[in-house]
Amino acid sequence: MNELQEKIIKLKKERNALILAHYYQTLPVQDIADAVGDSFALAKLAQKAKNDTLVLCGVRFMAESAKILNPEKTVYLPSGEAGCPMADMIKPEDVLALRKKYPEAAVVCYVNSSAAVKAVSDICCTSSSAEKVVRSLPNRQIIFVPDRNLGSFVSKCVPEKEVILFNGCCPIHDGISAKDAKAVRDATPEAKILVHPECRPEVLEFADFIGSTAGILDYARKTDAKELVIGTEQGVFDILSRELPEKGLRTIKNNFVCSDMKKTKLEDVLACLEGKKLPIVLPEDELSGARRSLERMVEIG
Ligand code: SF4
Repeated sequence: MNELQEKIIKLKKERNALILAHYYQTLPVQDIADAVGDSFALAKLAQKAKNDTLVLCGVRFMAESAKILNPEKTVYLPSGEAGCPMADMIKPEDVLALRKKYPEAAVVCYVNSSAAVKAVSDICCTSSSAEKVVRSLPNRQIIFVPDRNLGSFVSKCVPEKEVILFNGCCPIHDGISAKDAKAVRDATPEAKILVHPECRPEVLEFADFIGSTAGILDYARKTDAKELVIGTEQGVFDILSRELPEKGLRTIKNNFVCSDMKKTKLEDVLACLEGKKLPIVLPEDELSGARRSLERMVEIG
C-alpha cells in the first residue's frame, strides 16, 4: 500500500464509507475497495450497505444504481467524467416508442443504462441475471434494451420468447471481430476461450465459456486448463494475471480497455471522502421508477 492508499483507508473508516469497485477498475483502485465485483454484485452490496456514504469506483450508471437503491445515503462517483457509451446510446423516448409499437411486451433493461431509461422499463438485468430475468416474466414478447448482443444471446437461451432488440452495444466488446477470435483460436488451439455476452454473436461462436465478468473469473479460477483467453475488458486479465501466474493467459485482442472505467484515480477517491466532490443527485421520478426496476431484478436474484 502506498501513502495515498493508506490515507484513503483511514479516512473511509472515519467517514463510515463503503468503497465498491468494479472488476474493470485499475488494480490500485481495487486494492483500496471494501468489495470488488460486477454490476450485479455491486448493486446487491449497495442495497445491503449500512454505511452513510458509498463511493462507487466505476462509471456513472453504477453510481446512479447505488443511489437509486440507497436514496438516503450519500453516493459518490469519483470521476464525474466516467460515463458509458452504451448507456448513452438510448434515451427514455426510445423505450416509450418501443412500448407503443409492442404494447404486449415487457421491457427488460440491462443495468448499463441511465436512471431515466431504467425508470421507464419494467425490470433491470445484468449480464449474469439476464436469462433468469427474461424467463421469469409472463410476457411472450420482451423488449431488450440497450445491448443488442446481450439481447441476442438471451434470445437464443430462451427461444420460447420473442425478443425485440434495441440497436445499442458496448463499443469495447462489440469491437472484437470474428477474425480476432479466429486468430486467437488458431494461435492457441488448446486454450479455453472465455467471452462476455456483450461480444458479437459471431465471436461467441468461438467461445468455450460465455458469461459475466464474475462468471469468467469463476471459470478461470476453477478450470484445470493451462491456457486461457480472456474475452472481456483488460481489468479481468489483470486480476487473473496477479492471482494465477502459472496459467498461460492472454486477452482476445490487444488493448481491450474501457477508457471510461480507467478514469477513476486514487486522488478522486480521496477527494470524495474529504467531501470535495459533489454527490450523485437524481430527480424524484427517476429515483422511484428506476428503484422499482432494480428492486425487481434484485428480488429475482
Ligand atoms: S465496458 Fe462497455 S458497457 Fe462497460 S462501461 Fe465500458 S463502454 Fe460501458
